[in-house]
Amino acid sequence: MDDYPQALERLIDALQTLPTVGPKSAARLAFHILQAPTSEVEALASSLLETRERIHPCPTCFHLTDLEICSICSDPRRDATILCVVGQPKDAFAIERTREFRGKYHILQGLINPIEGITAERLRVRELHQRVREEPIREVILATDPTVSGEATALYLNRELEDLVQVTRLASGVAVGSDLEYTDEVTLGRALRGRRAL
Ligand SMILES: [Zn+2]
Repeated sequence: MDDYPQALERLIDALQTLPTVGPKSAARLAFHILQAPTSEVEALASSLLETRERIHPCPTCFHLTDLEICSICSDPRRDATILCVVGQPKDAFAIERTREFRGKYHILQGLINPIEGITAERLRVRELHQRVREEPIREVILATDPTVSGEATALYLNRELEDLVQVTRLASGVAVGSDLEYTDEVTLGRALRGRRAL
């Protein structure tokens, strides 16, 4: 390894823990940070910490928020009878970008994955059950990724919920094996409009 000063080495190591950042990109970012104006670096450092301190999961839907209850849960104009269930906050952000959905969300905080030992008990399924029983929900849209884990999760939730509420799944059009996050808004919007019963 190159003989970087220790502090620089630590910065490069830290940057490499970020997704998609390999050793070369990490070094490039570190040298950029070294040459950037102090004010810029301070703004970056404080926004990293501030994000961690202020952003937390909404206690109702588990979407990310810096408020006590997220702005979607507390918005009286959103349709409280339709609940869209997704794996991660990034999926809810993707669906919001389509501007096709006016209901509320429930974030599972993961998807069922037996290989990685992620079972339904480790997800926010109990909380989903409780919401379906206690809130005036008429329809649950299962909008988990069209991957093996996403499909397994959707099948599981359908079995769990079908006696309590109408359950629908995003229509095909979202490519199998892809992440919702990277599906373009038009395709995702169409999949949402064309949702079907399982
Ligand atoms: Zn919420």
